[in-house]
Amino acid sequence: MKDSKQRKYDIAYLRMAREWGKLSYCNRRQVGAIIVKDKMIISDGYNGTPTGFENKCEDEAGSTKWYVLHAEANAILKVASSTQTCEGATLYITMSPCKECSKLVHQAGIKRIVYLKEYKDNAGIAFLDKAGVSIEHISDLDSE
Ligand SMILES: [Zn+2]
Repeated sequence: MKDSKQRKYDIAYLRMAREWGKLSYCNRRQVGAIIVKDKMIISDGYNGTPTGFENKCEDEAGSTKWYVLHAEANAILKVASSTQTCEGATLYITMSPCKECSKLVHQAGIKRIVYLKEYKDNAGIAFLDKAGVSIEHISDLDSE
């Protein structure tokens, strides 16, 4: 019973993360993230350029600019500038974290990740698994 309730919330939060991803200005890939702690949403984020830079994420060749921040990095940084912390929080994200972001996720104290799509490189997820972060993959948000 408790598990099915958790599942319901997981799906609802992941759907929110998907909505958030739609706010991204990036053309190649739109990723959304929601951070939940003690049953409260404490942060959100989507991939995009840092404050003060033009919103466009891709260069003339169509490649993603190196300084584009990933959704989870933006969400974690938003918590860092608040009075909250990510300690013990759950990260809901539409794409599994890359290597760089997985370091931030672990170091921020996030203890659980629920993701939708698999990133091409699963080294980030492998690292988080090793770090003791609980990982859940929900691949279909629309059938439940
Ligand atoms: Zn990343």
